[in-house]
Amino acid sequence: MIDHIDIVTTHQCNQSCNYCIDPFRNTSKKIIDIEKVAEFLASIREKTEEKLTVLLLGGEPTLLSKQKLKQLTNTIHEYGFRASISTNGQLWRKAIKIAPFFDTIQVTIDDFDQIPLLYDIKDKVNVKMPGDEYMNWQRLTEFMEETKDFYRQSVPMYFNPQTFEELCEDRYVWDFLDSLSWKRDGSYKYAFYGKIRFKKCIPGETNIIDEPKIPKLYPNGNYNCNWQDETMNNYLNLSYQNI
Ligand code: SF4
Repeated sequence: MIDHIDIVTTHQCNQSCNYCIDPFRNTSKKIIDIEKVAEFLASIREKTEEKLTVLLLGGEPTLLSKQKLKQLTNTIHEYGFRASISTNGQLWRKAIKIAPFFDTIQVTIDDFDQIPLLYDIKDKVNVKMPGDEYMNWQRLTEFMEETKDFYRQSVPMYFNPQTFEELCEDRYVWDFLDSLSWKRDGSYKYAFYGKIRFKKCIPGETNIIDEPKIPKLYPNGNYNCNWQDETMNNYLNLSYQNI
């Protein structure tokens, strides 16, 4: 029942997004050790034979050296998992250089000028546009058209985690989203329009802090399933049968 595996490679970041959920952003320069990654993946491999995706994120994972990213992806592949990375695309030249190491790359764009820069690696890029307060019908339709040749397109609709109020207030966007067929997965809902994947919260239920189906390894070497608590919690061994 594990959805995928997160590795928080560093809390260093070169951006300050309004929807960021990393409470430790830029509080430390620590970078994940390869030995800790191997130990973590070995413990998950004991639980499942599935070829799950291991997602490198942060902070901003492209701030790691090219050599370190190569070592990380080699380790992920040695354990029979798929390697992916989630980047804000600011270091797009580096993203292109490291693309051969990865099976897929998630790039969140906030500026459409970034799109042509990624065209050489479009076959493995899942290009994401944040559904935040800047989202409107014109931006959404432009995004759908400009990125239609990419491997995948995604639009997560962001919300206030306390009130569950959606950040996007554009009526035309919501009329369109309300016309789609939504399915539940965990505490979120998903819908497709062609190959574009939309995601939205379920008011009163969505939990952005604890994600029991997504094991997480942190730069300090501990693992858990939580975005705000990086103490060690070997919950997979304790409660795997209940996940
Ligand atoms: S790029 Fe990621 S880690 Fe950095 S501020 Fe944005 S959401 Fe947070």
